[in-house]
Amino acid sequence: MYTLPKLPYGYSDLEPYIDEETMKIHHTKHHQKYTDKLNSALEKHPELFEEDLSELIYGAEKNLPEDIRFEIINNGGGFLNHSFFWNVLGEPKDEKNEPIGDLGKMIEEQYGSYEEFKTKFKAHAMKLFGSGWAWLTMNKSGTLELENTVNQNLPSEGKIAIITLDQWEHAYYLKYQNRREEYIDAFWHVVDWKKANERLKG
Ligand code: MN
Repeated sequence: MYTLPKLPYGYSDLEPYIDEETMKIHHTKHHQKYTDKLNSALEKHPELFEEDLSELIYGAEKNLPEDIRFEIINNGGGFLNHSFFWNVLGEPKDEKNEPIGDLGKMIEEQYGSYEEFKTKFKAHAMKLFGSGWAWLTMNKSGTLELENTVNQNLPSEGKIAIITLDQWEHAYYLKYQNRREEYIDAFWHVVDWKKANERLKG
């Protein structure tokens, strides 16, 4: 059985950038529902509880029986993406909150500066139509890449996810309504760059 993971901070700790009510509903209602639906789909084929969930999804055609395939892609993806997203976020440390360590250097080398990177990330994220996720990943040759995925799809197989931003309306609508760009700007204040830097090791 999959269980809803605890948040590594309190619901109000990301204020004012991400508000308490959004965090509460997002975690206890939305993420909980993905978790519940994932479990009820897997109960039809309980042997699959033993398998690695992301491998099941990446090899869905081969690894998932047809009767639960789309439920697992959607709800298993929702479970994994949110579990990851909560650890992308963290309490704002200071006004700047800039990337650190090797990741900070890579961002500067590849994008020119952190400011340039943020501009490119936002422009790319805004290209997403409908619900989905904006990712910063690293490919096998060590290059950073921007990727959007629709619905609850995972980032491309074989890439290391560094950070992601939930772009479903449920992630920002209470505070930002239709102002998705403002939500993206606010996101930078609550990225945990220490954890992001650690992900480079794979
Ligand atoms: Mn969400």
